[in-house]
Amino acid sequence: MALQICPKCKESSFTWSIGEGDLITIWTCYKCRYTAYEVESFERVCELCKNRTEIRLKDEVKIYWWCNRCNSVNIIRDKHASQNHMKKNH
Ligand SMILES: [Zn+2]
Ligand SMILES: [Zn+2]
Repeated sequence: MALQICPKCKESSFTWSIGEGDLITIWTCYKCRYTAYEVESFERVCELCKNRTEIRLKDEVKIYWWCNRCNSVNIIRDKHASQNHMKKNH
């Protein structure tokens, strides 16, 4: 399967696998070990590239839209942002 750009470290090392039991897709970056869960029922057309490739990802601190084609990220909720102001996390 094709590797995607990791939203965290920006390396082409982001890939998915199906979790056990639940119908959940787990995205993992083998470079920085970043892990996020795909909320399967959410999928939408990306505003930037106009492809239906924008999915909703969730990790321990945030929920966001992520386009696996153009790699745009749209934060929906970020725990860090509400707890300690706007801590830039690039
Ligand atoms: Zn990474
Ligand atoms: Zn896009």
